[in-house]
Formats: sequence, C-alpha cells, structure tokens
Amino acid sequence: MTALAYLTRACGKAPELLAWPVHRTRQLCSDLAGPIGRWPALELPGSLAQALVVVLFLALVGGSYGIVRTAAQEILRLQAESTARDWAGYLVANVPDLRAIAAGRPPMSRSAAVLNRVHGAGNIFELELMDVEGHSRFISRAAATNATPHSDEGFAERRDVLQRVRQGAVEMESRAGANDGEPAYFNDVLVPIRDGKATIGILDVDIDMTANRRSLVQVLVGATASFGLILAIAFGLPGLGFWLRTREKDLAESKLRFLSHHDALTGLANRGALMQRLENALSTGSGQHSRLAVLCMDLDHFKDVNDSLGHEAGDQLLKDVAERLRQSLKPDERAARAGGDEFIILQENIAGQESATDLAQRLLSAFSRPFNIGPHELRIGPSIGIAVSPDDGIEAEMLVKNADMAMHTVKAGGRGNFRFFEGAMDKLQQRRRHVAEQVRLACDNGGFRLNFQPVYSLGTGLLAGFEALVRLRGTDGAMVPPAEFVPVAEELGLVTRIGAFVLETACEQAAAWPSDLTVAVNISPDEFREGKVVERVAAALAKTGLEPERLEIEVTEGVLLADTETTQKTIEGLKKLGVAIVLDDFGTGYSSLSYLWQFRFDKIKIDQSFVRAIGKNGNVTDIIRTIVALGRALDLRVTAEGVETEAQAAVLRAMRCDLVQGYLYGIPVEQPDVPAFVSRPLPKSLAESANRDLGQALVAV
Ligand code: C2E
Ligand code: MG
Ligand code: MG
Repeated sequence: MTALAYLTRACGKAPELLAWPVHRTRQLCSDLAGPIGRWPALELPGSLAQALVVVLFLALVGGSYGIVRTAAQEILRLQAESTARDWAGYLVANVPDLRAIAAGRPPMSRSAAVLNRVHGAGNIFELELMDVEGHSRFISRAAATNATPHSDEGFAERRDVLQRVRQGAVEMESRAGANDGEPAYFNDVLVPIRDGKATIGILDVDIDMTANRRSLVQVLVGATASFGLILAIAFGLPGLGFWLRTREKDLAESKLRFLSHHDALTGLANRGALMQRLENALSTGSGQHSRLAVLCMDLDHFKDVNDSLGHEAGDQLLKDVAERLRQSLKPDERAARAGGDEFIILQENIAGQESATDLAQRLLSAFSRPFNIGPHELRIGPSIGIAVSPDDGIEAEMLVKNADMAMHTVKAGGRGNFRFFEGAMDKLQQRRRHVAEQVRLACDNGGFRLNFQPVYSLGTGLLAGFEALVRLRGTDGAMVPPAEFVPVAEELGLVTRIGAFVLETACEQAAAWPSDLTVAVNISPDEFREGKVVERVAAALAKTGLEPERLEIEVTEGVLLADTETTQKTIEGLKKLGVAIVLDDFGTGYSSLSYLWQFRFDKIKIDQSFVRAIGKNGNVTDIIRTIVALGRALDLRVTAEGVETEAQAAVLRAMRCDLVQGYLYGIPVEQPDVPAFVSRPLPKSLAESANRDLGQALVAV
C-alpha cells in the first residue's frame, strides 16, 4: 500500500488538503497560528532554531522506526510462541509414544507419520524433537533443507537456555535465513513438552515468519504514518503558520533595520548612517592620521523637474542620480542621500585636496551626460562644496556644515561647479541668510520697487525707452542689489513671483508714457525654465493695454544654456506676441555666436565690461566694432550699456552703435522721476553727437 493510500485512509480529507490552493493553506495556517502568534515569542537565533528542528525531526523519525521495529518483533514473538506451544500440545495429544521417542527410542510408524506431517503445516518448516538434555531424537523437515540437527556439543553452549525450557519457559531466537531452504525470516522456538507437570522432552520449532512480518510491518508503518499525518495536521499547520509569521516579522525587522540606515528611495546610505561613518573615521586611528573629504552635492534646478514633470519623474531622477553616483565612486568613497536633492559623499584616506578635486571632477563629468526620464532628456548639473579634514574641521558636523556652505557659494556663483570651503564663506553665508530673509519678507509684504533707466538712440540722439530694474530696500534701510538677491530668490524658488511683479508694474507704467517709448524687462533663467513666460507676458499686456512692440524682454546667455527646446518655444511664442527679444550682457558667455544663429533676437546689449575697457584696452574697440558689424549682418540693433564717460560715448558713436545706456545719460530712477527724462532737453553730449564728425571721433580713439 502506498504512503498516500495510508494517508488517505488515515485522514479522509488528506488528498483534498494536498490539492488545496497555496493561498488557502496559507490562510488556514495563519488562522490556526493566530493564538500561537500571540504567544510571547521564543527568541532563538535562526541557525540554532533550524538545528533544533532538524534534531527534533530526526529524533521523531528514529523514534518511530524504533517503536515500529520493537512492536513488530514483540508481536511476531508472541505469534511464534503461541504456534510452538500449540504444536507441543498437539504432539502430546497425538503421539502416544512421545515420551519413549524423547527417551531415545524410534517412533512407531503412525507416530513418525504424525511427526513428519508437522513440517510444512502452518508456517513450520522444521521441527526437532529433543530429550530433556537437548539431544536430538527426531527431525521433521523438508528434504531440501540442509540445516544440521543441533549437536550435543552445541547444546553445551545452550545449557542455560535448555535449563529454563526444562523448567517450563519458552526460549526464542529471531533469525534471517542463511542456509538453502530457510525462509528469509524465521523464529527458532524452544518449548517444553509437558505431560502433566513433568517435562518429557523439548521441541525445537522453526517457524517461517517472513509473510507475517511483512504484513505486520506494513500495518504498523501505515498506522504510524496515519498517526504522523494527524500529528502533522494538528501541530504542523499551526507550526507552519507560526513559522510564516515569524519569517514575515523577521523580514519586516530586517527591512526596518535596513531603512534605519538607508534612504528608502535610492537605497543609498542615509544621513544618519553617513554621519556615524564619518564620526568613526574621524575618531579611529586611521582617521586621525589620514585626511578625509566631505562633499555636499546639490542638484541644480531639481525643483523644476518636480514642478514640471511631476514627483514620479523627480523620484526616478533621484534614483538615476544615485546609480550614477555609485558608478562614479571608488572603494574609499561613500555616498548618502541627505534629503531632497542633497547628497553627501565621504572620501576617506586621501592624500590631499587633489583627491577631492579628482572626485569632484569625476562627478561633474558623470553628470555631463543627460538623464533619460521617460520621453524627456534632462540635463541636471550638480553644485558641489568640499571640506577637508583637519583643515576645515575635525568634527563631523563642522565638516558637513562647511562643505554645505561651500556648496551654497557654488550655487550663488552660477552652479554646475565645485569649490573648496574657505574661511570667508562663513561671512558670505551669513549675508546670504540675511538676503534670503529680506527676499522672503519683501515677497510677503510687496517690498519690491521698480527703477527705470533711460536708453538713448545714438543715431537720433532721442530717448528710446527705459530698462526696468528691480529694487529691494532691506529692513535695515540698506539697498540690496539685484545681482545679489536675484540668485538667492532663484534658489528659494521665489524669482517668478518677483518677475511677475516686475513685468506687470513695468507694463503698467510704460502704458502711461508717450507711445514711442519702449520698456525693457529682465527675465531670469529660472522664469524661462518654468515655461510660463509667454503666458505671463500675454496676460500683462492684456491687463495693462501696453502695445506688444513697446515691450522688450531681456535674457542672458544663462537662459540659452538651459533646455533649448523650451527656450526656443518660449522665444518663438514671445515673438508671435510681437514682443522684442534682447540678448543682455553679450560677450560674457561661452558661445554667443551659435546662439545668435539659433535664436532670432531683435537686439544685443554689449556687456558693460567692454564699455569700461574703452581707453584701457586697445583691442576692445575692435571687439565692439566686430559686434556692431555682426549686428548689422544679422539685422540686429546693438545697445551699449554702462556708458559713464564722454570718451566712451565718443567711441561708441564712432563704432555706429545704435543705442546707449549708462550713468552718463541717466541713472535708474523711480517712476515719479521718469517724466523729467521724457520732457528734458537732450543731454549735452548727445545733442552734440548729431553734428560731430565721426572721422574725428575715431582719430580721438
Ligand atoms: P542688467 O540687466 O545688465 O542691468 C544693467 C545694470 O547695470 C543695472 O544694475 C544698472 O543699474 C547698471 N548700470 C546701468 N548703467 C550703469 C553705468 O553706467 N555704470 C555702472 N557701473 N552700472 C550701470 P542693477 O540694477 O544693479 O542690476 C544688475 C542686474 O540684476 C541686471 O543687469 C539684471 O541682470 C539683474 N536685474 C535687475 N533687475 C532685474 C529684474 O527685474 N529681473 C531680473 N530677473 N533681473 C534683474
Ligand atoms: Mg538688462
Ligand atoms: Mg546687462
């Protein structure tokens, strides 16, 4: 019978149970384990618990096997004893000369026939009649059996055994057949032949127990298996459920342990783990004798990705950034996500600043490749600040603080680069915090003002318009220059709010000026990147009624460096509105010429630095002349800004620059002072310009 059949017999539900879907078994386990699961947990180390389970299992299997074996042997012994006794009784009753035979006389022929019938009857395959001393008197066995009768000498060894049999006991041996004709398993039984109370001889009966033993073992194995199954169902399922729960608990605990040291999104170490590592490195012998560097890295314009593409894209970008970090690091370098888009990298056992420079350059180069997030190709640069121990600090917090300060200095200075910490940064940082506070307050309380600086046409000598320049007066009464607070506002994500105020106010004011005057508004790269400039400009024009051709939008090359697709669209959108586009601070960027081809500007403004260099640097006139010629070739008008002296004005006039702006013609003024410029006669130098001989001016240069 197969094990499954036994199982089936033992438990009517077993086959169904085995065919159950796994989830139902799990559910059942879980239900059954409910009460167990609430028991106070027995805390054992995993390997010890496993070893215990294996030992218990082996003990159970070994124990069951031992019990089955002993039980089978005992039952077979009883069966054999009973058979042997029955035959002894039968012979006493049916062999009249049994006492004489046992005494050594030959049996009568009828008695011999009875005795010879015994072998082969039942399971007996050999019968030997002995006298009380154990001497063989008659053997009944099949002809093929080669077994020899027990010799007298043999009985000398069995003296004790025979003694006990003589006294009425039954002695038995279980044996495996070794000779021809012997069964595989048989019991050799010695029983006394008793006549009344006297023992008249000894009967040696060999009983074939092979078949009995086989079926008995089958029954016992089946019973044990059934019992085992019942035990397994009764204890195994709740045990399994308990194990599953414990495993789930262990998994949850190990996940918690992982999360307590790692960032869940990127899998990098978290800030706490890195600080711990840093503290250890600083306090251990190796940390004290060797130097280490802390790099604080922040992603430039990460907020834009979140705002424009959504948080899922932002998360994906952070994961990709983490992966790129992992790939860029060497064995003694470790990265952690400190929160948001900030990462800290620890570089141990360095020789000096060169190692940190190498790491920073490796990171910048790794980030020079774009990130592919869905259909978008994003270019995200990092700003990196570096602090090196022991020069920049010997404590973990101090090193991170200084590296962070260096990173903010990079951000304020144009981003996408790295810098080492310097003592002066502390003051810069304090100032930055003060400015940030002033920007926040001004945003909340409408604290920004607009100034307007006149722009004149060199050709006609007439006022052409004004450039709107934002102003912030701090709570201490001191002015904060836009070159300082605009980058801070960009970092705080507040620059679009300021831009909205400037745009609307400038359009509103300009709408009240004579209709031939233009107004120029500066738009920061962050506003451009946000992608809502066209919408905002259209809304401002609609609200104030200013004609689009009177509005100029000034952008710097920083705008063009960003995502060119959005920039192109925005510039085209603005041109469709009828607004003019001016490239501000021309000549200070990287690849101005390619931008001039790519984007259709209306005007370029030569940067102040060129104008300031007039008279100091001989080459500058050639450069200005070239820029003006370039403007003519591309049908662009050229403005020179920062004109402070008559000499500068003369050169610009000689170069046939179209427009001029600078303190020589008028400083930025508040709105109430604008009408004075409109009605004022032409400044002296400009009035003279109409009559001056250009050739003479050139000679003067
Ligand atoms: P910009 O657009 O190139 O503006 C010209 C800057 O040169 C102004 O400085 C102006 O006051 C200054 N300036 C004009 N004439 C002279 C001169 O003859 N000599 C000297 N030394 N400087 C002169 P300001 O107002 O401090 O603005 C600095 C920069 O801040 C601007 O450069 C512009 O990039 C930015 N900015 C100003 N207002 C805004 C604004 O409303 N929005 C944005 N996004 N940026 C602004
Ligand atoms: Mg400007
Ligand atoms: Mg400028």
